[in-house]
Amino acid sequence: MALFVLDIYLDCWKARFRIYSEERDVDTLQDPNKSAGRNDAGPRLGRFLIDGNWIEPSSGSVHLCTNPANGEVLGTLGEASTAELNAAVTAARRALDSGPWRNMLPNERARLLWRVADAIETNASELARLESLDQGQPLSLAMNMSVLGAAEHFRYFAGWCTKLDGRVPSVSRHDAMLYTRRVPVGVCGLITPWNFPLLIAAWKLAPALATGNTVVLKPAEQTSLTTLRLAELMHDVGIPRGVLNVITGAGPTGQAMTEHPGIDKISFTGSTAVGRSIVRASAGNFKRLSLELGGKAASVICPDADLNKIVPKNIANVINNAGQVCGALSRFYVHQSLHDEFVERAAAELSSVRVGAGLNKTSQMGPLNSVEHLERVDHMVKAAIAEGATPIVGGSRLDGIYASGSFYPPTMLEGVTEDMSVAREEIFGPVMPIMTYNDEEEVISRVNNSDYGLSASVWTENLARGHRLASHISAGAVRVNTVSGLDPAAPWGGMRASGWGREMGEEALEAYTEVKATWIGLE
Ligand code: NAD
Repeated sequence: MALFVLDIYLDCWKARFRIYSEERDVDTLQDPNKSAGRNDAGPRLGRFLIDGNWIEPSSGSVHLCTNPANGEVLGTLGEASTAELNAAVTAARRALDSGPWRNMLPNERARLLWRVADAIETNASELARLESLDQGQPLSLAMNMSVLGAAEHFRYFAGWCTKLDGRVPSVSRHDAMLYTRRVPVGVCGLITPWNFPLLIAAWKLAPALATGNTVVLKPAEQTSLTTLRLAELMHDVGIPRGVLNVITGAGPTGQAMTEHPGIDKISFTGSTAVGRSIVRASAGNFKRLSLELGGKAASVICPDADLNKIVPKNIANVINNAGQVCGALSRFYVHQSLHDEFVERAAAELSSVRVGAGLNKTSQMGPLNSVEHLERVDHMVKAAIAEGATPIVGGSRLDGIYASGSFYPPTMLEGVTEDMSVAREEIFGPVMPIMTYNDEEEVISRVNNSDYGLSASVWTENLARGHRLASHISAGAVRVNTVSGLDPAAPWGGMRASGWGREMGEEALEAYTEVKATWIGLE
């Protein structure tokens, strides 16, 4: 049954994307037990891409990239200095103001982005393996969601290059006319988190480049490998020098980007706490900001929900990327009448999930991304138990063969109340806090009583109820009878502490362009 659960999730992606035989691709990957080694990350590991050249960091190597499944060191990364950040920003500015990028026709830019997508697919096996090694994702997830998803973002936005139209507003005068155009914001600083490094880099790069911007990209220090490899592929297919610059480093480098006067816009995906500090850092320099921050998605299980359909979908969502997903369901409101049956069925499925290294083909759920994060999740669950919650499944760290990695078991907690941090704060782990409710108004008010407003799912066989709840729940995305929600064409982003603005879809074009008005005198 648990295998079935994972299949449902992956089917969403298989149906959406032109999948090559991922089975075949996964089969050709190397022995998961083999030492990973520096070469897995390619020759670019540890360098920065600045103005088309791969530069050795002046700081030497300061961050270790480790495989979260066994703690093995995969390589080292540098922390960009002020001079290196300045060089990246200068290169991006030069590429914006002169050279082939500025003069490239929209259809040429589209073809180039399409070639990036082709290069990702051609190198899909290598990228999936790298993502699995560095981030911990099961290979099939790395292949179908991260790698093929990344290619789809480039294809989708390649299509927009030739459709960035302006308007001719009806101004009330005879002596002049007006037209508007969408122009690039300028040099964009892109800062990404560690949970879906390749996919999130793609969902920022594709619209930023499609609309004619140039970029300085900084991946998370924990998971930079696929971003560096993507940069190499983009460089090889002909993205002009200076258009894409990649530096590595941790918080200080990200902060320096947000304070840098030469960067016009920051697109950030990460925690709400860092989002707040970015708002402060950019206050004096008028940068435009897109902030995709944390979430605390509710799963609302209505009295008429069909448990046969919904239990596997809920469990698939909980274990997807070990719960390290901003839109992960992480507070469950089960109608009192379904509570016992839902808990019994969900617990049975959750206990049969196969946990293991991402490179092990039988694993349905991989490790958490780091020991630090493992400790955080463990601490939150322990605190909930100390406050009175009961672990029905899981509830403590895995040991034995799992001890060398950062594995946490799928966990279900019953008897959770809203004052517990496990019900209010983002967990980012495979944990199901279960609560009950009695009527619709009550559940709407409890769901909306949250700092976060990123997404939610509602489960009902009653269409009117589904629409009603979708309309009253305050979140950037509400899903009725599904956990799907990510698609290059679908706007994604949150309300309140979940962030500012929308990525993906047509809305991303607004995030990466300014509207410029041109007046033409007619007399
Ligand atoms: P994080 O905020 O710790 O780090 C994200 C990135 O910001 C990293 O590259 C990091 O080096 C950088 N950074 C750290 N301090 C900085 C500073 N002061 N200024 C600028 N940059 C700084 O987040 P994380 O732990 O890597 O990622 C997990 C978080 O990301 C979760 O909260 C999750 O919900 C969120 N997330 C949100 C979405 C979404 O679409 N809303 C998607 C994925 C992840």
